[in-house]
Amino acid sequence: MIISADDLQRIREKHIGQKIVYCSGSFDLVHAGHILFFEDCKKYGDILVVSVGKDSSIRKNKGEGRPILNERVRLKTIDSLKPVDYAFINPVSVEGKQLNTLELALDNLKPDFYIINEDAFDTKTRIELAKKFGVELVILNRNCPPEFENISATKIIEKIKNLPDKIKSSMKKAIFLDRDGVINDDEKDEFIYKKDDIFVRTSSKESLRKMKDKGYLLICITNQPLIARGLASEKEVEEINNLINQKIGNLIDRFYICPHHPEMHPDVPEHAKKYRIVCNCRKPSPGMLITAAKDFDIDLKKSWMIGDMITDIIAGKSTGCKTILIKSKSNSRLIKSAMPFDINTKPDFYADNLSDAIKLLDISA
Ligand SMILES: [Mg+2]
Ligand SMILES: [Zn+2]
Repeated sequence: MIISADDLQRIREKHIGQKIVYCSGSFDLVHAGHILFFEDCKKYGDILVVSVGKDSSIRKNKGEGRPILNERVRLKTIDSLKPVDYAFINPVSVEGKQLNTLELALDNLKPDFYIINEDAFDTKTRIELAKKFGVELVILNRNCPPEFENISATKIIEKIKNLPDKIKSSMKKAIFLDRDGVINDDEKDEFIYKKDDIFVRTSSKESLRKMKDKGYLLICITNQPLIARGLASEKEVEEINNLINQKIGNLIDRFYICPHHPEMHPDVPEHAKKYRIVCNCRKPSPGMLITAAKDFDIDLKKSWMIGDMITDIIAGKSTGCKTILIKSKSNSRLIKSAMPFDINTKPDFYADNLSDAIKLLDISA
């Protein structure tokens, strides 16, 4: 039960004839070591009362960044543990004399036992205070069974610090890249479905490598309506994607394809008719970006969309990505495709090519 320090005398009176055990601590990250300690404490009596250190005193004792969990959370956690009967927050703030909180507890609760760990700080003062209030002091050894490691909050924090970076920062950042005109040069400005149509510049490969080194996932987001036209199958497009990826050192983490097209042309072969739908993945719709964000746990606000068409920009902007429009053969020819329709479709940045785009990642990171 959660109590306040004002209740201590009342608790003593309520449990006359029973043995009260008292202990204290900061209990910042509760772990099995604490539970073993409480179980050992409980062996000394009938009622276990635990005081939980105030945030302000822990900050003074353990330094910057501590406690990790605030006093209400720590109190609630301790109170819920099986061996604990009462828990309260030590109300006295620590000014110079660190153990004045202890005096209050010993004086008001008058426990039968006051239990500390062998590694408690200032054991000497604790012994003196226990003597002053006529309380029996017990010093417990830290005797964690071997199946429990000898743990402490400080050791847990060390372990977390040593985790690999990719686990520490859970949400990832990504650069979404259009395929044709961005990764793959679209010299011919036609549908690309033959091996011979693939053309990747060495400079693009180097740029993608630099992006990857900056910690971005690289995800290709491409409309491939040629599937809906019946010119290639999804599998064939996948093969082309794999070939492109091989040429750039497999730097692309995944390709997302929209095979659809909304218009039902009369010349569409039967097998391709299923792709003639209004979908939510064809850019400018953001479906592929949203799927990728779910698949990879991507923080879209930390991410970018790089494309050569305004439809790429719209898809990126509508999900909160920053956007870069780069020059390509098709957007110089189809100038309308590269022109913002209105302020909401305006790219955040323009760049000549991918290596130009890298500088933008840094200035607006
Ligand atoms: Mg393109
Ligand atoms: Zn689609």
